[in-house]
Amino acid sequence: MRILLVEDDSALRDTLSQALRLASYGVDPVSDGRAADNALAAGVYDLVVLDLGLPYLDGIKVLRHLRGRQDRTPVLVLTARDGINERVQGLKTGADDYLTKPFALPELEARIEALLRRAAGGQVRLTHGPLEFDLDGHVISINGKPADFSVREMMVLEVLMQRTGQVVIKTRLAQKISNWDDEIGVNTIEVYIHRLRKKLEPWGIRIRTIHGLGYLLEPYAGV
Ligand code: CA
Repeated sequence: MRILLVEDDSALRDTLSQALRLASYGVDPVSDGRAADNALAAGVYDLVVLDLGLPYLDGIKVLRHLRGRQDRTPVLVLTARDGINERVQGLKTGADDYLTKPFALPELEARIEALLRRAAGGQVRLTHGPLEFDLDGHVISINGKPADFSVREMMVLEVLMQRTGQVVIKTRLAQKISNWDDEIGVNTIEVYIHRLRKKLEPWGIRIRTIHGLGYLLEPYAGV
């Protein structure tokens, strides 16, 4: 999941970037309205966190341009404490939600999750640091670039990603794959885990072996 973060206050921008990355989102931070406008024209974002008071082009204009292109990307507007007028204007212009500064980071993350879920109409994309898994299209990308995974590797990875930070029993993985091909046994899972590790570890994505039990996809902590 890729988020465009538009905020001209550099301290806040850094804090938010860091928090969102820790929450496994891909984040592109920009500091003014013109840069935001340009970035959004490419149409690659899943969500925009948009401050309204910005240099060069204010947030309302950025939003108006976005909606003018019939682009429905969810927008979460950040407003000043006393900015009731700009909040109303933001919602009228097509913002999906707003947060009043100062806000708690978990609140921001919860709003973002809700908007993304709403936009997706359910869970169709999994994300883990730079890794994105489009369950609908069966496409995996790393840092926005399509990556090559076999169908079986994808099936194992999907189960692990659905339960990040939790142990997945080896037999459960085998069962999951056996639905697709009855010849797959428990030992073969090790082969797929090995291949997944080779592809994912260079990106700081780690699958831990829990001896005698199964595997665990470690929460993403960066490279
Ligand atoms: Ca501002």
